[in-house]
Amino acid sequence: MASFTLHGIPVSRGIAIGRAHLLTPAALDVKHYLVAEEHMEAEVRRLQEAIAEVHRGLQALWTDLPKDAPTELGAFIDVHALILSDPMISEAPLDIIRTRHYNAEWALVTQIDELSAQFDEIEDAYLRERKADIQQVAERVLKVLMGSAQLVPPPLSEGEYQPPMIVVAHDISPADMLQFRDRSFIGFVTDVGGQNSHTAIVARSLDIPAAVGMSQASSLVEQDDWVIIDGDAGVVIANPSPLVLEQYRARQALMLKARKKLLKLKKTPAVTRDGTAVTLLANIELPDDCPGALEAGAQGVGLFRSEFLFMGRAGHAHKIPTEDEQFEQYKKAVLAMKGRPVTIRTLDIGADKPLDQAEHTALNPALGLRAIRYCLAEPALFLTQLRAILRASAFGKVRMLIPMLAHAFEIDQSLAMIEQAKAQLREAGVKYDTGIEVGAMIEIPAAALSLPMFVKRMDFLSIGTNDLIQYTLAIDRVDYEVAHLYDPLHPAVLQLIAMTIAAGKKAGIDVAVCGEMAGDTKLTRLLLGMGLREFSMHPAQLLSVKQEILNSDLGAIMAQTRKIMRTCEPGAIAEAVEQLRIG
Ligand code: PEP
Ligand code: MG
Repeated sequence: MASFTLHGIPVSRGIAIGRAHLLTPAALDVKHYLVAEEHMEAEVRRLQEAIAEVHRGLQALWTDLPKDAPTELGAFIDVHALILSDPMISEAPLDIIRTRHYNAEWALVTQIDELSAQFDEIEDAYLRERKADIQQVAERVLKVLMGSAQLVPPPLSEGEYQPPMIVVAHDISPADMLQFRDRSFIGFVTDVGGQNSHTAIVARSLDIPAAVGMSQASSLVEQDDWVIIDGDAGVVIANPSPLVLEQYRARQALMLKARKKLLKLKKTPAVTRDGTAVTLLANIELPDDCPGALEAGAQGVGLFRSEFLFMGRAGHAHKIPTEDEQFEQYKKAVLAMKGRPVTIRTLDIGADKPLDQAEHTALNPALGLRAIRYCLAEPALFLTQLRAILRASAFGKVRMLIPMLAHAFEIDQSLAMIEQAKAQLREAGVKYDTGIEVGAMIEIPAAALSLPMFVKRMDFLSIGTNDLIQYTLAIDRVDYEVAHLYDPLHPAVLQLIAMTIAAGKKAGIDVAVCGEMAGDTKLTRLLLGMGLREFSMHPAQLLSVKQEILNSDLGAIMAQTRKIMRTCEPGAIAEAVEQLRIG
């Protein structure tokens, strides 16, 4: 097989070498051809056998369900088995083979397309959503017909060897990505996505190499091809020659060695050469990330992206986690951090983190009903989350962080709702931390340009540079076609960050950066020079940032940073930031 190289956007460091596991939707890959009269019955049987095999697979899933599996999971399998037995699926495509001479895959897809169109007409939203079930069942049959792999291979049994796998897909939603947490996947490659799409962020939090915006990867790479991801360069090499493979293995070994060295810094306090202490916090998505955060020496959680508890709940009875479910998860994180502060961000749903793929209909989701806007429009949902967070605050130090604020009335309404949640808990005799701190994310330029409004009302600020860059430069952070315009060093972005840090200092309140800039070692000194003393990032980046801090001399850095802030020339800024880093 010929070797080829693809270039995309580097989103997560390191080198991964493994076999490709393709996640292309089977329906997109279906071959269309006509079957000769004499082979028609054989084609019919091929489809019947595939349907029977999927039936057996569903049966096996049923019998293998663990005892503690949620009851909805069984119901979910039942629904799929019922759909599969329906004549609309099990017989109609056979007629299409016989009458139109289509091959089995084409006949099935034709029938499903027709059914889907009928579903689109249905008014009842619940029934309309069943279209997705039908498509999933058809996908299962197609995959058997085409002999391709399942979405996620079953977990390995003990002692079983499988070569490390690299997921190659057109796109992977953050929720889907969560499925890969416990598997032997060592890298991700997607056709779409940008440096700071949430998919990229999740890849970084899993601490595995990834490259996105690879444009054609999912159609060029084939199942089981050997693939190298160079996460630092955003390069993917398929079917590498033995020589190239050898070179990458050597580089990989060197990186591992450097990493082992970093591990020794785990317990070293993050203090600059001239004695200024810096707080290093972790960004987490689920409470299970806490042990990893502690392992990396995090002094607390600076950003718990609570929306991950709300996503990917297809098999659950409730689309939204209940107050008790949420409380248990928040409490789990608080206890796991053993007295260190845990900053829980309230639900930041919408844009590239839709609660439900089917609801992803806003014309311009990044500018739409997202995050706090969504929560204020759904007060019952918001109050439920606020009560759950407050209840967890009785078990350790919890801080609340509100995303996407721009208006004073949004801050006031949020604070009023927090008071309402507190009152409800008091009435019910439930404990919470009465001194709980509430902070605002500064991630909309309007917020960074009206800081007095924020510092007056809030206990702390946290700069979400991912969105701040997106909204300042008017580029969609998930659109790879404008990814080259995503620039953390744009003078406008730097000014907004510096202003926020300065305003916090003047008002005597803490300011953190919790966007991706905080974990980028190329920017550590620049942020230190602006006065930042609280960095929140993926645990995987924490030790490298600490190493940078340990080698920094604040006096020199501050003088250079002041100079950078007076410059408006991108070339000069880039050069000065590089000097700052190596200097
Ligand atoms: C940000 O916008 O920088 C941020 C930290 O939040 P998120 O990436 O979850 O939008
Ligand atoms: Mg954000």
